Amino acid sequence: MKRLTIIAVVMLVLLAAVLPSYAASFDDHKATAYMNIKFECGCTRTGTGAMIGRRGLITCAHNLICFQHSKWLKSCTFIFGAKSANSGQKKVTSGYTYTVYDTFENGYSGENDIGYVIFEQPIGDSTGWYAWQVGSDEFLNEEFTHVNYYTYNGRFNELFTIQYVSNSKQLKLDDNPGDGDGAPVYLAYEGLDWPTVVGVFTTGGNGKGYARRLTNQVADDMRAAGAFN
Ligand SMILES: [Zn+2]
Repeated sequence: MKRLTIIAVVMLVLLAAVLPSYAASFDDHKATAYMNIKFECGCTRTGTGAMIGRRGLITCAHNLICFQHSKWLKSCTFIFGAKSANSGQKKVTSGYTYTVYDTFENGYSGENDIGYVIFEQPIGDSTGWYAWQVGSDEFLNEEFTHVNYYTYNGRFNELFTIQYVSNSKQLKLDDNPGDGDGAPVYLAYEGLDWPTVVGVFTTGGNGKGYARRLTNQVADDMRAAGAFN
């Protein structure tokens, strides 16, 4: 009996080392943040971001730099588990750095419209976080994806099909969420252990939606910046 217990403990430890580290409990509502954004140019906007690690939040670049004036973020309030534009289960206004992959100096482009935020504090300990995956073209083509986002009047979780992998960086969705720029585009189905982010919603219009894929470059940079520590 004792030996069995020891074996079980050893197996659990081994398993924990192999599995991606998920928070003990996960609530997509809490791991998703409503963002109240102000840029240095004076422009404001709202957006969505998602925790994919203990300190790392993924979103679109145009939530972190003004795509019209190429001016940096001046301030942002992250409201996790938002109930309104001002209240939620956790509010963060400082103690973060961010990185973008496009500064829009040559105009808006969805190609590199992705960025991330690293929090000094392990915000994920109280919000939980999504799993993530850098999906291959074959894996992602025609998958059903969820887009979990906030708008001025509430929170939406919609289901879209990836119509096709547009290129190595983008996915085309079968419809346009219409709002929720920066929202996590994730897979969730029976057999998949955890809701798994594969990209962020960037733009939509005329019944088309586009997502920027989570690529190895972004994942590697986030890891190096401490997103998963
Ligand atoms: Zn601006």
